[in-house]
Amino acid sequence: MSAPLFTFDNSYALMEGMSVAWQPATVPAPRWLYLNRPLAEELGLDAEALASDDGLAVFAGNRVPEGATPIAQAYAGHQFGGFSPQLGDGRALLLGEVIDCQGQRRDIAFKGSGRTPFSRGGDGKAAVGPVLREVLISEAMHALGIPTTRSLAAVATGETIRRERPLPGAILTRVAASHIRVGSFQFFAARNDTERVRQLAEHAIGRHDPVLVGREDRYLAFYEAVVQRQARLVAQWMSIGFIHGVMNTDNMTISGETIDYGPCAFLEAYDPETVFSSIDTHGRYAFGNQPGIAQWNLARLAETLLPLFNTDDGQAVAAATRVLDGFGERFDRHWLNLHRLKLGLRGEPANDEADRALVNNLLRLMHEHRVDFTLGFRRLSAVLRGAPQDWLALWGDSQAAAGEWLGRWQQRLTAQGEPAHEVAARMDATNPLFIPRNHLVENALDAASESGDLRPFERLLAIVTDPYTERSEDASAAQPGTPEQTQGYRTFCGT
Ligand code: AMP
Ligand code: MG
Repeated sequence: MSAPLFTFDNSYALMEGMSVAWQPATVPAPRWLYLNRPLAEELGLDAEALASDDGLAVFAGNRVPEGATPIAQAYAGHQFGGFSPQLGDGRALLLGEVIDCQGQRRDIAFKGSGRTPFSRGGDGKAAVGPVLREVLISEAMHALGIPTTRSLAAVATGETIRRERPLPGAILTRVAASHIRVGSFQFFAARNDTERVRQLAEHAIGRHDPVLVGREDRYLAFYEAVVQRQARLVAQWMSIGFIHGVMNTDNMTISGETIDYGPCAFLEAYDPETVFSSIDTHGRYAFGNQPGIAQWNLARLAETLLPLFNTDDGQAVAAATRVLDGFGERFDRHWLNLHRLKLGLRGEPANDEADRALVNNLLRLMHEHRVDFTLGFRRLSAVLRGAPQDWLALWGDSQAAAGEWLGRWQQRLTAQGEPAHEVAARMDATNPLFIPRNHLVENALDAASESGDLRPFERLLAIVTDPYTERSEDASAAQPGTPEQTQGYRTFCGT
């Protein structure tokens, strides 16, 4: 007998009333789309064994591996501001938990493995396009150093699923520090089940904030830790032009990992009002709204935890408000530091305000002249190497204003007194050259979905998971889409 593919150590399934035991649906004709071998190794799994037919059957949902206790998790959530008391895993299934090479507990979960008791009207399935989109963007985010769920495997199921038009079906295997969301707490709070809120909080503390275990003020400290993680995460999104697109409370983790890659996309021309998602008609989740929405979601989390903070309502609210009010300052601090790094600036508290103004001036100019966000930062390093023409070329006939800003930035750098080539090298390790450009993502997904051609997907994945190194053979992938490609670009939830 061969060794089991996974050594599961399941804990969430043991908590009563938080999930439903369930099985994945079987599928007719599984075929590999993707296997993330480095991640498999990081998880302590045998990548060779996973790449077998046995592994394919597992990732297709056709064979439940030994030791798995598959469950559909219950959660609620505010969707576009309106509360849904029951969402839950309608097309996802938590296969089990493993302990990775670093000793960290990680969830292994399917997306698209069939209906569950939480599916409501949905079919519980996913399509090849959205599944590969999640692989591309989540793995790009990881390569950019941003906390995120990961993609372990993707398989085509051989099924045709019905959306606006028939599409090939697929299953994604997602890896997360946990799938506990703001909406998980909301599910029990909405039912006045304070005991389960407490049990879930204890579980989450043990998992994400073990240093707080047993501390008397642990619930408030846990809340503060979640606020800190989200302030940092959203600042990181803002520093690379990432638009999540559907920041509902059920899509915000307690771990601080980016989750739920549906209508997300990267900014090209800088405009804080950018919205790509077809269902975000009022622009609630526009690029520039993300910090405010994160704070709003965190207020919803606080509401669920109030009874744990203090038996006195007034005191509980006061404590929660103090913590939540700290979000803005934390976000601003991360945002400033990340943008300073992008400009090669060393942080000195005395320069905070001047540096903030310098960054904001650049962003305002980029907005005014519709400059590509990624290249607007990346090409600055070449200026320090004595070749300003590529950066200036981004500004069309507005080079005078850009040149004026450039002068101020260089003055600030001169005051720092570091060799220009060192600053330039540091900037190139911070400002990506390659992001998942919308037109490239669409091309790759179309080829995979329409004709089963995985080559554009594989090529793009290789490019975006090595985002900082300049390579002449990939030069075209660093370019923004043409106006025809970018105008009116829309993304969909893939449901
Ligand atoms: P999402 O937009 O992925 O955050 O999903 C929101 C809610 O809708 C979650 O409860 C999902 O499980 C559920 N859902 C989304 N798509 C489907 C589907 N095709 N079948 C069943 N449930 C779905
Ligand atoms: Mg979701």
